[in-house]
Amino acid sequence: MVETIWQEFLKIVSQEVGSRIVETWFKAVHLVLWDSNAKVAYLHAPNDFVKTWIVTHYQDLCKKHLARLLGEESIKVHIAVEGAQDGQFTIVAARKLDHATNVSSSSTKMPLTVPSSKHDKIALVKKKQKKPAHVTVYTFESFVVGPSNELAFSAAYAVAQNPGMHYNPLFLYGGSGLGKTHLLYAISAHVHEKSPEKVVYYETADRFVQNFIQAIRLDKMAQFQAQYRRADVLLIDDIQFISKKEQTQEAFFHIFNLLHQSHKQIVLTADCMPRDIAGLAERMRTRLEWGLVADIHMPLLETRMAILKKKAEAYSASIDDEAFSALASYDFSNVRELEGALVRVLASAALADCAVTKEFIEKIIKPVVRVKETVDIASIARTVCRCAQLNLHELRSSTRTKELVVARHVAMFLMKRMTDASLREIGSFFNKKDHSTVIHAIEKIETKGKKIREISLLIKDVERCLEERS
Ligand code: ADP
Ligand code: MG
Repeated sequence: MVETIWQEFLKIVSQEVGSRIVETWFKAVHLVLWDSNAKVAYLHAPNDFVKTWIVTHYQDLCKKHLARLLGEESIKVHIAVEGAQDGQFTIVAARKLDHATNVSSSSTKMPLTVPSSKHDKIALVKKKQKKPAHVTVYTFESFVVGPSNELAFSAAYAVAQNPGMHYNPLFLYGGSGLGKTHLLYAISAHVHEKSPEKVVYYETADRFVQNFIQAIRLDKMAQFQAQYRRADVLLIDDIQFISKKEQTQEAFFHIFNLLHQSHKQIVLTADCMPRDIAGLAERMRTRLEWGLVADIHMPLLETRMAILKKKAEAYSASIDDEAFSALASYDFSNVRELEGALVRVLASAALADCAVTKEFIEKIIKPVVRVKETVDIASIARTVCRCAQLNLHELRSSTRTKELVVARHVAMFLMKRMTDASLREIGSFFNKKDHSTVIHAIEKIETKGKKIREISLLIKDVERCLEERS
């Protein structure tokens, strides 16, 4: 039964986060035991590296989907390394221990470190376990500075040293995966360390919106406001998500003013400059531009190499310079992708038990990058626009004219078919909160759409254009 559940789980995860993630991380992992009394699912990972990565990045995902498949509201998930050596944690040993031990709560507000001690509590009860192979810490020390992010880094550091004294608010902007959240975490860690009495509040704007809606629903506006007003340092990530949400903007405006007047530090990030955030009230925009606005770009080769070295160090991996240089030279569009590639290489090397050489990197990364270079979701969107004579902004908007809806459905359908993008990634490209719209669009094209001449012609047209391009 556990094997069937695991296979089902892999299918769902593949849909949600993409088959590449499943290939890299979950393929060699197994669900070995379901303890229905204690409601704990026990997983086996092939090595420490994979285990730590899953614990850090995919624990919530595991909990959510396994719970559903096992018919439970919530479960705990425990991951152990397969065939762990003498004295280390084993599944059998774990069952004898007290299940009340919380082995899986991972919803800390600030995921600053791999919470090794928390996740490995049972293991520690038995025998002190060696530290996980990599510990991710988003601090100023682990942030590599170069011309592309110097201003943002210096401003963030100055603000963390003396909150409320310089640049207030500090507004950091840049494309996805370039280190904005890293800098917010770094500010938080620095303030915590230097002045533990200060209240630092980190939140994504998305979460702020949800909290606000909840507060309205439960008639708890006073508590909502009070919660944020307690902050000495308020860090709001991805502020662009409050665009077009007038009431939320109003509430934020209020909190902003109160904090600002009392010289409390506010730091915001976004994917564009304040003036480019659509649907932002004028007075809100002015506020955001009051302090310092600093941008972050994709780092140049030297900085990319330094980042790779730093990350590899954190993962305790040894790679030679030639291999670093090979990896840094690929045309990734942001640091997250670069890091993802490094992790993919390290994971593959760990699974294959071989050294990370330039040749090995080429074998692992080249096919992936080539696929990306020819067709990715953005290029499909652009091509659909060209063929359907629409503009990209309209395609990504929520306007529902017939031709826009058709073009959007075709784009989503082709994105799923021609790229490795997950439903979630496709959804967020179209500014959708969840991916049900994408599933619906794909189904529509597959069941009815392809039979409608106008739609099948558009699909063919787009496919031809994409082919000619590559
Ligand atoms: P953003 O919030 O801009 O989308 P993140 O802060 O989440 O991006 O960064 C994505 C990943 O890239 C993180 O793992 C982060 O540590 C890493 N990263 C980005 N820039 C740097 C840098 N200059 N030095 C070290 N790591 C970086
Ligand atoms: Mg971010």
